Amino acid sequence: MLLHDGHRFVRERQKAATTNWKCALHSKMRCKGRAVTREVDGHHFVRITCRQHTHPPTGYEGIRSKNGEK
Ligand SMILES: [Zn+2]
Repeated sequence: MLLHDGHRFVRERQKAATTNWKCALHSKMRCKGRAVTREVDGHHFVRITCRQHTHPPTGYEGIRSKNGEK
């Protein structure tokens, strides 16, 4: 789970050091919020690729990733 500006993202796919994230409310709210993180030399860089959420940074209660990670 990725937290950014109060929005939560769930992991979508991972390729080498790059991870793609989508908003945890992607399917529930048809949200287009997206982020990409990259790990370089142990540092994580977050890039928001789509800031437009279809909802305020609330409504994530009860949303959990399937494997229980935070
Ligand atoms: Zn969203």
